[in-house]
Amino acid sequence: MGFVAEGLQVVHGRIAAAARAVGRDPASVALVAVTKTVAAERIREAALAGQRAFGENYAQEGAAKAAGLEPLGLEWHLIGPLQSNKTRLAAEHFHWVHSIDRLKIAERLAAQRPPALPPLQVCLQVNVSGEASKAGVPADGLPALATAVAALPGLRLRGLMAIPEPTGDAALLRARFRTLRQLLEGLKARGLALDTLSMGMSDDFELAIAEGATLVRVGRAIFGARPMAA
Ligand SMILES: *Cc1c(COP(=O)(O)O)cnc(C)c1O
Repeated sequence: MGFVAEGLQVVHGRIAAAARAVGRDPASVALVAVTKTVAAERIREAALAGQRAFGENYAQEGAAKAAGLEPLGLEWHLIGPLQSNKTRLAAEHFHWVHSIDRLKIAERLAAQRPPALPPLQVCLQVNVSGEASKAGVPADGLPALATAVAALPGLRLRGLMAIPEPTGDAALLRARFRTLRQLLEGLKARGLALDTLSMGMSDDFELAIAEGATLVRVGRAIFGARPMAA
């Protein structure tokens, strides 16, 4: 078995164990394989091993890989911060965007989503770390943003995403993930039909699954360490 297929198998095993440990069905946790800096050839290997959903941080890098691997029929998730001058690329080349944290970006995606494509599946990125993080909508701004995004044509609001501040404190991480789950429950109680909690990466996805993650975004645990940023 190749390196990538082996990495996938290990991660699937960890996902299943984490789910069973809290009485969840392992099939209730989707795996998005994060491929920023990962060569197209490795992505092809992952696809051959059965992986369908891939996550990219940069719209341009992701769009190029999606175009090059088009015949494989993969599902592309944009998970990194999205600037307004990149929304068209995202709207045209991705199936999901996880990182919406302001209405203006959602409105541009809605306007630019080609009508021939199914709605773009979107999550709102929430700042669950307060002062310790800048990315994401603050919790107190979430209900208004969610209501507005849910009403846009061309988009389907699926749920919430968060990236807690880096910390080795497992209890703190769990608390951040729990906060995201509670925010999702709050929105559902307001009548929004949401089903996605996008949380957990290589170092913490077991904690996220314990707190209800339905989608984990995992890179290094599958593909190995990324080259250091120059
Ligand atoms: C890079 C990245 C991941 C995956 O991180 P790993 O530590 O490689 O698992 C997940 N989500 C986002 C938003 C990322 O930028």
